[in-house]
Amino acid sequence: MTPNADGDGARTGGDVAGKEHGGASFDDGRVGVYVHLPFCERICPYCDFAVVPAKAFDRELETRYVAALRRELEARSRDFGGRPLASLYFGGGTPSLFRPDSIARLIEAVERAFPPTGRREEPIEITLELNPGTLELARLPAFRDAGIDRLSIGIQSFDDGLLKRLGRAHRAILARRALEAARAAGFDNLSIDLIFAGPGQTRSDLDRDLDEVLRWGPEHVSTYELTFEPGTPFGRALASGRMSAFDEEVAADMIGQIEDRLGAAGFERYEISNHARPGFRSRHNARYWSRQAVLGLGMGAHSTEARAPRHPHGARRANPRVLSDWFERVERDPAHVGTVESLPPPTARGEAVFLALRRREGLVATDFAAEFGAPPRAYFESEIARNVARGWLEEDVPAPGDLRLTAAGRLLADRVAADFVSGA
Ligand code: SF4
Repeated sequence: MTPNADGDGARTGGDVAGKEHGGASFDDGRVGVYVHLPFCERICPYCDFAVVPAKAFDRELETRYVAALRRELEARSRDFGGRPLASLYFGGGTPSLFRPDSIARLIEAVERAFPPTGRREEPIEITLELNPGTLELARLPAFRDAGIDRLSIGIQSFDDGLLKRLGRAHRAILARRALEAARAAGFDNLSIDLIFAGPGQTRSDLDRDLDEVLRWGPEHVSTYELTFEPGTPFGRALASGRMSAFDEEVAADMIGQIEDRLGAAGFERYEISNHARPGFRSRHNARYWSRQAVLGLGMGAHSTEARAPRHPHGARRANPRVLSDWFERVERDPAHVGTVESLPPPTARGEAVFLALRRREGLVATDFAAEFGAPPRAYFESEIARNVARGWLEEDVPAPGDLRLTAAGRLLADRVAADFVSGA
């Protein structure tokens, strides 16, 4: 729903068993399930997710898609057999285009495949993404009855001018109605998606958006810098000079502005793009950041396979991004829908550091050493030295060998983290 939002197959973990700590990179023995529902009323010009225009989306296609998801779930659940459910996430696309009874059937099927432990200390979280432009407000109570306990709302901005320049289908009035209706339906765990560094946006514009976000009092806020992905209309406009990139220094200032404003209001920036009130970190996305098992179902969904002797550092599976290909593969051989890539140790090490540095708690050296046989310095001496010298990284905090970003490093987090991926 947003640039690299909660939203795409490769969504990204640490809240193991609901505890708000940095999380270990060890397998927690549970599974998260991601269900990709790819249809959107209008394709936003910056979007590079696996999406399908909703023109052809009707009851028949919805029924066929849900049946195929159940078939894929049944076949793929064997790879994660015996694991209790930790989280379930309906992402897109625009999941709120699906009828509540379809969502209820999917929740029931997932809980049958992976019965939750039922232990209070291991609660599950069931999130649904929705767009204000397509939200059928009357459906919200039925989504709640179906078992959804968290909504991630693609607000993006309360500024109609910016929404228009972003090519979004909705306007601020619909965003406000969605928030009102969600609270009225009893949802007490709301996440708002916000875009910054959008075309023509100023720091004052962003301040006004943050004022309104805070007035609505969500439990969680995800903030994404607009990116120009190659192959999208915005990417092409940038390449041909019809659009220009946002000023990097202003974008970095905006990151600080968001952290300061939300921080002063009681939010913790627990991950580069995510801010939560105490107790409201995203449990599902935390699984990606700590490399826990996630089964991805649907067109374009990604899975983080459970560790196994044949891939001790984990593996990724990517489903086809074309709807007809995904249908054809599910109907032919639902256990082998996607392509699997077992992670070689250098890739896994780079990813482990990259993902850990995105989290506030950073990288725990003993966890890293337990998996890779030696602490981070043994593999990343020059990357660590370079980023410590720049003032972007601190080492040995809180324990010897641990790594985490400094306040200055958090403004350039993607750049620091990427250094470790290329150095792996
Ligand atoms: S709403 Fe727009 S950004 Fe979100 S998934 Fe659909 S097309 Fe992409």
